[in-house]
Amino acid sequence: VVKDSKIQELIELDKKHYIHPTTDPKLLAEEGPPIIFAGGEGIYADHVNGDRYIDGMSMLWNVNLGHGVAELADAAREQMMKIAYASSFKGFSNEPAIELAKKIADMTPGDLEAVFYTSGGSESNDTAFKLARFYWEIKGKPSKKKIIAVSNAYHGVTIGAQTATALQAFHEFSGSNIPGLFVHATAHLLNAEQGDKNDPQYEESIRAAIEREGADNIAAIIIEPVQGAGGVNIPPEGYLQAVRKLADEHDILFIADEVICGFGRTGTMFGVENWNVVPDLMSIAKGITSGYSQLGAVVMNKEFRDTLVSFEGVLAHGFTYSGHPTACAVALKNIEMLERDNVLDNVKAMEKVMRDGLAYLKEKHDIVTNTRVIGLLAAFDLREDRENDKTFAPEVKAAPTIVDECFDRKLILRPLGMDRIAIAPPLIINKEEVEKIIAIIDE
Ligand code: PLP
Repeated sequence: VVKDSKIQELIELDKKHYIHPTTDPKLLAEEGPPIIFAGGEGIYADHVNGDRYIDGMSMLWNVNLGHGVAELADAAREQMMKIAYASSFKGFSNEPAIELAKKIADMTPGDLEAVFYTSGGSESNDTAFKLARFYWEIKGKPSKKKIIAVSNAYHGVTIGAQTATALQAFHEFSGSNIPGLFVHATAHLLNAEQGDKNDPQYEESIRAAIEREGADNIAAIIIEPVQGAGGVNIPPEGYLQAVRKLADEHDILFIADEVICGFGRTGTMFGVENWNVVPDLMSIAKGITSGYSQLGAVVMNKEFRDTLVSFEGVLAHGFTYSGHPTACAVALKNIEMLERDNVLDNVKAMEKVMRDGLAYLKEKHDIVTNTRVIGLLAAFDLREDRENDKTFAPEVKAAPTIVDECFDRKLILRPLGMDRIAIAPPLIINKEEVEKIIAIIDE
C-alpha cells in the first residue's frame, strides 16, 4: 500500500507524461487515472492504495486465468533465465515457439496446423490480411486482394485492422483507414440467446458484396465468431455455417477473429467450435497467455501452409517479437493450466450462474433487456422504455453511468456505447463471485 502523497505524485506524473490508449486525453489530463493497478489475485485487481476491485472484464477480455498466477510467472522466469529473447528471422528458432506451434496445431479444430506469430490481435489481423493476399498471388490469382468485414466489427487499430473495424470512432480515427481495400457487409446483430433465429438477409448482404466486387477481387472474409466490442452479439445457429459455405462457393478465405473468443472465453476452446465451423485462418491473441505476456498468432490450415512453403523467396513479413521465446513459454503454461485444471468445465458451470443472474436483473429492473451470455462472455442492454424498445437519450449516458456506479462499488465493467454493458470475468471465477457481480449491478 502506497501513501497518499505518493499516489498524488503518481497521478500528476501520469497526467503529464502518459498518453493512454482508447482514453479521452483531455479528461485524463484534467482528472488523472481513476485507478493505478498495483496488484491482483484471482478475479481481483488492487488499486495502489490497497483497495480491491472485482475485475469483471478480465481487464481487456484477456486475463483468462486471473491475476497473480505464480505458475505463469515461473514459466516466464524459467525461460528468461535460459534465453529471454531469440530471433525467428531467417529460420532461427527456439524451443517454446516450436512446441507452442505444435500445441496450437493439435488443439485448434479441423486441419489448422501451422502458425505465424505476432505480438497481439491487431498484428494478427494485419498479418492474416497480408498472408491471404500473398496466398492468392502464389496461387496465380493476384487480383484477389479485397477483404470483406462486417458492420459493428472490431479487429484492432493498426491501419489494416482499423480499416476492417467497422465501429465508427476507430474506423475513422485520424483519417487513417485504407481506401478501396475493405468492403463492409451487414453483420447479424441478432442474439441467439434471445431466441433470435438466423435471418438470411445477413448472409445475403455478404453474397451481395461478393457479387458487387466480383469473387475474383476478394481474398478473404473476416468475422468474429461472437462480436466483442461491437456488443457481445451471439450469432444464431446457421449463420457462421452459411458464411463458411459462401466462402467455399466463391473461393474466398474465411478468417475467424478469435482474439476474444479463443482460449475458453465462450465455453469451448475456440469460438467457432460452438457452430462446428473450421476457418482457413484464425487470428488469436489475448487469452493465449492470459495477458501475462504479449503474444498473438495467425493459425492456418494445411493447404494454406503448403501453399506458403511452395513459394521460393523470402516471406517478407515478420515482427521482431514473432516467436518470442518467453511469450511462447508463458502461452504453453497457460494452455497447460487451462486443460489441466478443466477450466472449460468451470466456464460452462459459471455460464449458467451468470445467465440466472442476468435473468434476475431483467426480472427486477424494467430498464434491463437483451441479456445474453455464452461461456463467460455476457452483456445486457438498457432501455428507458423496454416494452417499446425506446433507448435512453444519449446525454443520459445510461451504460457509462451504471458502469461508474459499479466502479464506485469496486466492480470493473465496460460500457459498449451508451446502452450496453459487457461482463467478462476471469474464467476461474466461482459461483459466489459471479453472484457478487450480479448483486453489485442490482444495487
Ligand atoms: N480482434 C478483436 C476481436 C479484439 O477484441 C481485439 C482487441 O480488443 C483485437 C482484435 C485487437 O487486439 P490488440 O488490441 O491485441 O491489438
